[in-house]
Amino acid sequence: MTFDLTPEQDQLRDAVRALGRRYGHSYFVEKAKAGEHTTELWAEAGRLGYLGVNIPTEYGGGGGGITELAIVCEELAAAGCPLLLLVVSPAIAATVLSRHGTEEQRKRHLPGLADGSQKIVFAITEPEAGSNFHRLGTVARRDGDGWLLNGRKCYISGVDEAGHVLVVARTEDSSTGKLKPALFLVPTDAAGLTRSKLDMEIVSPENQFLLYLDDVRVPADALLGESLDAGLPALFAGLNPERITVAAMGAGTGRYAIERASEYTATRKVWGGRSIGSHQGVSHPLAHAAVQVELARLMIQKAATLYDAGRDLEAGVAGNMAKYAAGEAAALAVDTAVQVLGGAGMTTEYGVATLLGAVRAGRIAPVSREMILNFVAQHVLGQDKSY
Ligand SMILES: Cc1cc2nc3c(=O)[nH]c(=O)nc-3n(C[C@H](O)[C@H](O)[C@H](O)COP(=O)(O)OP(=O)(O)OC[C@H]3O[C@@H](n4cnc5c(N)ncnc54)[C@H](O)[C@@H]3O)c2cc1C
Repeated sequence: MTFDLTPEQDQLRDAVRALGRRYGHSYFVEKAKAGEHTTELWAEAGRLGYLGVNIPTEYGGGGGGITELAIVCEELAAAGCPLLLLVVSPAIAATVLSRHGTEEQRKRHLPGLADGSQKIVFAITEPEAGSNFHRLGTVARRDGDGWLLNGRKCYISGVDEAGHVLVVARTEDSSTGKLKPALFLVPTDAAGLTRSKLDMEIVSPENQFLLYLDDVRVPADALLGESLDAGLPALFAGLNPERITVAAMGAGTGRYAIERASEYTATRKVWGGRSIGSHQGVSHPLAHAAVQVELARLMIQKAATLYDAGRDLEAGVAGNMAKYAAGEAAALAVDTAVQVLGGAGMTTEYGVATLLGAVRAGRIAPVSREMILNFVAQHVLGQDKSY
C-alpha cells in the first residue's frame, strides 16, 4: 500500500495548482457574475494537456487514468475554480467514448475533448423520472436509417458551451419489444433541440438548462457504440468517473475554504493580542472539517486506484462512498469557513460564501446522498431494495 503519488502525478498536481492559482477564485466569481464562462482557463488547461489526461494517447490524450483527472479536478477546485464541466466532458463523455464508442466516434470526438476545443455534455435527468432512471421517458425511434428523438431533460449543465449532448434515451429492442437505454451524440444545434436556461442559486460560470427534444433527427452513427447493446454498459461506464471526479472537486473546494478560513483566523485579533483561531470554538470546527476533507480524499484515492486497475465493481462502492463523503465534507468546510470569518464570511471579497450554492448542490447532484445511501444499504449491507 502506498499513499504517494508517482513523480509524474506529483508534477501534474503542482502544475495544475499553479495554473489554478494564476486564475483564482476571484476570476471564477467575476466570470459567473458577468454571465460568462471560464473560457481562458479551460483553453489553457486544454493546451497544457490537463483536460485530456485520461484520454488514450492515440487520440491526443495523456494516456493516464481517472486518478490523473481527479488530480486536475481537485487542484483547480482547491485554487477556487471548481469546474463542473470537467465532470461532464472529460470524465463522463470521454470515458464513455473511449470505452464504448466506435472507432469512428473516438477519432471524431476524443482529440477535441483532449485539447479542450470541444465539449460534450451529458443529459440523463428528466422532470418526471428524477432519481429513477428506469422511468426515462425520452424515446428514440428508428426513422429510415437514422433515429428520431423525443423527450425532455432537465438541469443539463453546459449545453450552451458544448458541441454535442450525450443524450440517454430509450429504444425499442426489436427482439423483445422492450425499451432499453441507448446513448446518442446529438449536436447542440440539431433541428428540434431547444433549450431554456434555468435560474439557479449557484455562483457558477456554468449554466443548467431544460432541454426539449421534438422530433430531433440524427443519423445512424449518432448512436453511441456498435449496436444498441452498447447502451447499458456505456451508461454505467460513465458513472464511476463521474462520482470520483465530482468527489475530487468537492474535496478541492473543501481544502480551498479551509485554507481561506485558516489564514483569516490565524491573523484576526479582536480580544487583545490573541488570534480568534486560538479559541477552540473557532479552531475545532475548522480542524473537524479538515479531518472530514482528508478522509474523503483517502476514499477518492482508493476509488480512483480501483477504477484505474479495472476493478469496476469495487470502484463503484468506493466511488459512491467517496462522493458521499466529499459532498458532506465540502458542505461542512464551506459552511464552517463562512462561520469563522464572521461578517467577512458573507462578503464576495473573502470568497467563501460564493461557494455555498455549489457545495449544497454537491449533496444532490450528480447523485443525491440518499441514493448513495440506498446503494450502500443494498449492495454493501445486503438490505432489500425499498423503492
Ligand atoms: C447544479 C446541477 C447540475 C446538474 N447537471 C446535470 C447534468 O449535467 N446532466 C444531468 O443529466 N443531470 C444534471 N443534474 C441533475 C441531477 O443529477 C439531479 O438533480 C439529481 O440526480 C436528483 O434528481 P432530481 O432533482 O430529479 O430529484 P428527485 O429524484 O426528485 O429527488 C428529490 C429528493 O428525494 C430524494 N429521493 C428520491 N428518491 C428516493 C429514494 N428512493 N430514497 C430516498 N430518497 C429519495 C432525493 O435524494 C432528493 O433528495 C444537475 C443538478 C444540479 C443541481
